[in-house]
Amino acid sequence: MAAWHSHSDTIAAIATPLGQGALGIIRVSGDKTREMVGHLFIKAGRPGPLKSHRFYYGHIIDAESKGQVDEVMLCLMLAPRSYTREDMAEIYTHGGLLVMKKVLNAVLKAGARLAQPGEFTKKAFLNGRLDLAQAEAVLEVIQAKSERALKWAQSQLSGQLSQKLKGMKESLMGLLAQIEAGLDFPEEELDLLPRQEMEKGLAEQAAILKRLLESFDQARPFREGLDTVIVGRPNVGKSSLFNALLKEDRVITSPFPGTTRDFIQETVNIGGLPVILTDTAGLGEKSSGPLGQEAEARARKRLEQADLALFLVDMSEGLTEEDEEIVGLVKGKKAILVLNKCDLVPGPDKKMAAPPSDELPCAMVSALTGQGLEELKKLIKAEAALAVSEDESGPVITTMRHKEALSRSYRHLSQARRGLKKGRPLELVSVDVKAALSALGEVVGEVTSEQVLDTIFSRFCIGK
Ligand code: GDP
Repeated sequence: MAAWHSHSDTIAAIATPLGQGALGIIRVSGDKTREMVGHLFIKAGRPGPLKSHRFYYGHIIDAESKGQVDEVMLCLMLAPRSYTREDMAEIYTHGGLLVMKKVLNAVLKAGARLAQPGEFTKKAFLNGRLDLAQAEAVLEVIQAKSERALKWAQSQLSGQLSQKLKGMKESLMGLLAQIEAGLDFPEEELDLLPRQEMEKGLAEQAAILKRLLESFDQARPFREGLDTVIVGRPNVGKSSLFNALLKEDRVITSPFPGTTRDFIQETVNIGGLPVILTDTAGLGEKSSGPLGQEAEARARKRLEQADLALFLVDMSEGLTEEDEEIVGLVKGKKAILVLNKCDLVPGPDKKMAAPPSDELPCAMVSALTGQGLEELKKLIKAEAALAVSEDESGPVITTMRHKEALSRSYRHLSQARRGLKKGRPLELVSVDVKAALSALGEVVGEVTSEQVLDTIFSRFCIGK
């Protein structure tokens, strides 16, 4: 990828989607913004200088031909009260691709250069308006696919994670100072913490880190959707269950891209949890020739990848040999045993001749009548490892980069704790605590290479 330009360049980009809409927004940021706007924008009414943070009606004109390019609204935001902390302008044009491009071209001709993906946010980071974790949260907010993922992203953007890490860093710095004092004056009777107390201090911080790390996996289904497959031999009611769940909670336009051509896949919203449901026909179809075998192989593969399997059996028929085979396939996977067609089993004490497994959580349903579906949904939500309670207010880790850095920090802390317990030299303990601190610093961008920044911001869209 091309090298980043100096962040004091004046950059411009279309900030709205490149299609037709009511409005389009062109963003400009950098030292030359004010001067450029002066040349490009003809304000309606009395002439005079533009004030910061005011909306003006007028026209954009082409610097060379002096012809009108579009009728616009414009807002100038002078530094430091802007997203990038530089002088910025936003030009509100008509929302057509051609007209937006023409306005952008006029701005480029006046001396701006086209922004790279995420460059406005990168400027905000480099100018100290956001730390790196907050800058990444901007992308998370834009990409959030469930209410909860949005809430987490907004909390990260507001600096909740950064604050938490700051508190941890302060505690670790205090402990490091104690460790290093012991290192500098080993013989002297200083008022130092005993090793045991130092270890206890590190353990407290490690416990906070551990909770943060666990939150990553717990939060994942809300960010990415819970990948759930319905498996079972033919005719147990897979398609019927799929349709029954869809009927009530279908997400009409799924934000999750379909990952397969081979299976029917839809997203349902189960109590705020996006569940990507896949109906895998073909599993357990024995005698259907090469095509059937191919379908079966694909279904097995799909099952392996999934987060959760809904393993359907026909309660009215009891367990068959084919069912037993599928029991083997779901072994070791997160799975719910769904006893379908309970409407066909008489009596209030419905029982199946031989329950296929008493290890799996189990729901008794009728895809036909809808009986038991609510219970099944509760189980699905519970199986998504939703230890994240409804009113959990602490920060949640949402990006892989943070998880990796925090895991490293945790490993160094564990190493330092072992060192203290085993009486290793304090020099070694101190090296580990410093490494743990440095890994924490990476999350907020205190120590970050240009390459890491490139990787992070290239995931953004142009204009953000
Ligand atoms: P699949 O092959 O596993 O996808 O099974 P289907 O969904 O196509 O269902 C097979 C047959 O079982 C159809 O005739 C359904 O109407 C019937 N069926 C599915 N679920 C139920 C149920 O809960 N109760 C009853 N009585 N019939 C059901």
